[in-house]
Amino acid sequence: MQKQTLSFQAEVAQLLKLVTHSLYSNPDIFLRELISNASDACDKLRFEALNDAGLHENDSELKVRVSFDKAAKTLTITDNGIGMSQQEAIDHLGTIAKSGTRDFVAKLSGDQKNDAQLIGQFGVGFYSGFIVADKITVESRRAGVPAAQGVRWVSEGTGEFDVSEIERAERGTSIILHLKDDASEYLNAWKLKGIINKYSDHISLPILMPKEEWKEGENDQPGEMAFTGEWETVNQAAALWTRPKKDITPEHYAEFYKQISYDSEAPLATTHNRVEGATEYTQLLFIPSKAPVDMFNRDKAAGVKLYVKRVFIMDDAQALLPTYLRFVKGVVDSSDLPLNVSRELLQESRAVKAIREGCTKRVLSMIEDLANNEPEKFKTFYAEFGAVLKEGLGEDFANRERLAKLLRFASSTTDTTSVSFADYKARMKDGQDAIYYITADTLAAAKSSPQLEIFRKKGIEVLLMADRVDEWALNYLNEFDGTPLQSVAKGAVDLGKLQDEDEKKAAEEAQTQFKPILDKLKEALKDKASDVRATSRLVDSPACLVVQDGDMSTQLARMLKQAGQ
Ligand code: ADP
Ligand code: MG
Repeated sequence: MQKQTLSFQAEVAQLLKLVTHSLYSNPDIFLRELISNASDACDKLRFEALNDAGLHENDSELKVRVSFDKAAKTLTITDNGIGMSQQEAIDHLGTIAKSGTRDFVAKLSGDQKNDAQLIGQFGVGFYSGFIVADKITVESRRAGVPAAQGVRWVSEGTGEFDVSEIERAERGTSIILHLKDDASEYLNAWKLKGIINKYSDHISLPILMPKEEWKEGENDQPGEMAFTGEWETVNQAAALWTRPKKDITPEHYAEFYKQISYDSEAPLATTHNRVEGATEYTQLLFIPSKAPVDMFNRDKAAGVKLYVKRVFIMDDAQALLPTYLRFVKGVVDSSDLPLNVSRELLQESRAVKAIREGCTKRVLSMIEDLANNEPEKFKTFYAEFGAVLKEGLGEDFANRERLAKLLRFASSTTDTTSVSFADYKARMKDGQDAIYYITADTLAAAKSSPQLEIFRKKGIEVLLMADRVDEWALNYLNEFDGTPLQSVAKGAVDLGKLQDEDEKKAAEEAQTQFKPILDKLKEALKDKASDVRATSRLVDSPACLVVQDGDMSTQLARMLKQAGQ
């Protein structure tokens, strides 16, 4: 391969400009990103080697080495993972494939201060090396590719990069950072160890650094730390979830969470358990404190990574949790699944079914725990994820009751938006035998609906629902704890014992008295309305629209229409 000079994809160029020109609030994270890439590369090798043991090339002890050269002002991170072919180096280091990073770039405003904050939240992977380096050299050889077909990739983080062929005996990748003058603090073992402890302790591979010893100076020269020729492991080198809970601090969990989720905030709730019995697995699951921008995309990647006996298998194992819990992040490590499990196999596996049920129960208990013991956190949770949780009513019949208990609504007689069905039931009027609710596009619309008039007059509370999914979700919930749910926008609402005899009579009389005009209206509206009735449900308004019992409500009809159905 001839030496080639290529241009970065426009988004990469934009990103690089930002990384190199903005004051970066936390430069240390470059090391975390590069070590995490090294660790991913080792995971990939381990995975591919399941089918082709030859890829190990007699070097199966996967590890990451971090070293520096004070004189040359370089910092090097080397792994013996999967490596990159020449084409892969061009593709993976010159374009952005990860959707999260693309979203990030789309959000860039051009305002340096804002953007610098954003970048701190996302972590921009490989390119974060340019925070501290004014030139990066990558040397790599893919596992299984001849030594003569290695690749060198060099860039100064401006618009272009060079690639050329090199001879490289060892498999894997070295990232050589040519440090900027003001980044010489990273030419220090103590500093580097500190960062590794903070950000990369849970990486399951050993991270090695040259072992140094104090060497007295000779001929009046000052002493200094000098390389002994040996390497030492500087991290715990055990996957976080495999370690005993008592040895793990909340900070460890939070750091791990941030790394797998690209979230800048700590999680709202964490659960870590080893499940034993018929199916054995470890679950380490997190509820984020903020919903992702694409949460309502039901096809979005799930957040749970699957490991089998500590070997990374896949990133977004959708089969491990129902879709309505797609906001949950974490890791499941199973001892029962075969290492070569495919997505198709996952769907059918009984062990996976047991894991999914177990994880679902865990997540629901986490949420119940917030609801019962941490009201502020539950509020945050509900504001962010309440709407997705409702999808569970239609998706997860086995847990419908548990879910229903977690739902909160606004109501016509309170100012809060945190009324549970149980709260509502406790306040029901004597003789009231249904939980009344109304759905609308907005809370304001629900609140001012003429359909509420009679309920207001009688002081009956009505739950107000304005989430897009409410209508659909409520279709799956006919009752709560023995009390039927009744939409006030459907059919002739029967207030049952709440309506006194006089009112009933008046309504019947009105029906006969107004028959001529009702018939005329029916005739005039015959293409638009299936019936016109006199009603006792209005107090101030002259008329209102209702939906036939059993028909789609107006809101659902509109929603389906919007969705193109
Ligand atoms: P991400 O890790 O989220 O995919 P990065 O920007 O960190 O994004 O890395 C971009 C891509 O470059 C990776 O997906 C991978 O294909 C490749 N890459 C980076 N570092 C390495 C490495 N040490 N070994 C092999 N491939 C790597
Ligand atoms: Mg990365």
